[in-house]
Amino acid sequence: MSDRKVLIIEDEKPISDIILFNLKKEGFAVETAYDGIDGLEKALGGHPDLILLDVMLPGMDGFEICKKVRETSKVPIIMLTAKEEEVDKVLGLELGADDYITKPFGMRELVARIKANIRRIDFDGNEKDGAPENVQEYGNLAIDMNRYEVRKNGEPLELTLREFELLHYLAEKESKVFSREQLLSDVWGYEYFGDIRTVDVTVRRLREKLEDDSSDPKYIMTKRGIGYYFRRA
Ligand code: CA
Repeated sequence: MSDRKVLIIEDEKPISDIILFNLKKEGFAVETAYDGIDGLEKALGGHPDLILLDVMLPGMDGFEICKKVRETSKVPIIMLTAKEEEVDKVLGLELGADDYITKPFGMRELVARIKANIRRIDFDGNEKDGAPENVQEYGNLAIDMNRYEVRKNGEPLELTLREFELLHYLAEKESKVFSREQLLSDVWGYEYFGDIRTVDVTVRRLREKLEDDSSDPKYIMTKRGIGYYFRRA
């Protein structure tokens, strides 16, 4: 993880400082911005490997920054949202954020999410030497656990880490129906408890990438009144 650069865009200095401290301890290079304009500039010009993005910022808000960054870059973005900003979380995912973390968050959770998101891009385009193949096949879908990649008929799909984790979780227990609450707790973790719309938004985005016709899904199926399950098309 060393030499990986994280950009923190957060106007509350005490929060930014404690993240900075913890990430440096983990060996990351860290850059900080305390307002939206500076944040966007560093996001586009500083080539970070991951961006931690606050929502409420002076100058330009986190959603606007997320949208602008996504026009040109696939860098992982984790949004930092306040507990009362329920709607905001969903909007962040809609705009292409990879993940969000609710304040106040634990540093271990944050560092774990950062590492998982970066590990995924580390495999992009460079095969790790000596890593044994770890691919699960479901009909024309291949889920590659080493590369954090899903291939459909051999073609890689561009999934976010959460989309990948959700698909992998459902596929492993093919045909088993999970409630939104179960998925939230097992795929996202306890900190997300209560935000079940997060599951719906992620399923919708996953279907758009995975299905031939997302309005007539063949892989991620809805069990009306209960939740979701996977089947091979
Ligand atoms: Ca703020």
